[in-house]
Amino acid sequence: MHPLFKNRIAALATMHAKEQIIAPILAEQLGMQVQVAAVNTDLFGTFTGEIERQGTQRHAARLKCEAAIRQTGYPIGLASEGSFGPHPTVPFVAANCEMVMLVDTQLGIEVCGEYFTTETNFSQKSVTSVEQALEFADNVGFPAHGLIVRTQPIVKGIRDYETLTHAVSKGLAASGAVWIETDMRAMHNPTRCKAIAAAVADLVARLSALCPQCSKPGFGKGKAIVGLPCSWCGLPTQQPKGYTLECPTCGYAEEVLSKEHQEADPAFCSFCNP
Ligand SMILES: [Zn+2]
Ligand SMILES: [Zn+2]
Repeated sequence: MHPLFKNRIAALATMHAKEQIIAPILAEQLGMQVQVAAVNTDLFGTFTGEIERQGTQRHAARLKCEAAIRQTGYPIGLASEGSFGPHPTVPFVAANCEMVMLVDTQLGIEVCGEYFTTETNFSQKSVTSVEQALEFADNVGFPAHGLIVRTQPIVKGIRDYETLTHAVSKGLAASGAVWIETDMRAMHNPTRCKAIAAAVADLVARLSALCPQCSKPGFGKGKAIVGLPCSWCGLPTQQPKGYTLECPTCGYAEEVLSKEHQEADPAFCSFCNP
């Protein structure tokens, strides 16, 4: 139980049943209650692109938190925001970055839990037959995971074979090829729910650490510090030698240098291995 959050109520902006993931963790770890705020979160961007997300993932999460606070009058707002796409450094691998933000207007803090994973079924494909669509469905964990078929109009949240076959057949009759993709909304995607839960766990860990300078909760891991020296020539490489611990409220930061990793493989050295 957290002395600053125990018995308080947080307003969660969601239309996709995220309270089922978030509320039990915050109740157990912080003693905080979660109440769903009737915020139309689609206005801040949809995965299917009807509404483009404005600005960064963090910015979108902040707007949702503020809307939840406005809607309910509670001083604490909560929101989750996910992003999906190719892994930043590994080609042809899909990745998911989840963010869960808490804004507390009473304490004057904004704290963000994050989780990055390659465990995601995020994918899409153009199919020219029902058989191809069913094969795609099998590969992405359907029907436990939902699908989207981009026909006119778009069919979302497909969770049974009859609806899938019907939507694909209709699209094929109209144009000969149909775009099919995974539905990434939380209630249609148990794999994503696990990633959101991990981001909530990161948020709890951050809220449990107080800043040594301003004493507000949210002190946690920030950026990687690069410059691990090459084991042959000693010059700094782009490999991380540690990370910072940062306060999102006052900006205080500490450097934590890695004990295990003291030297970089010369393969990463731009002098020894150009
Ligand atoms: Zn601080
Ligand atoms: Zn070197």
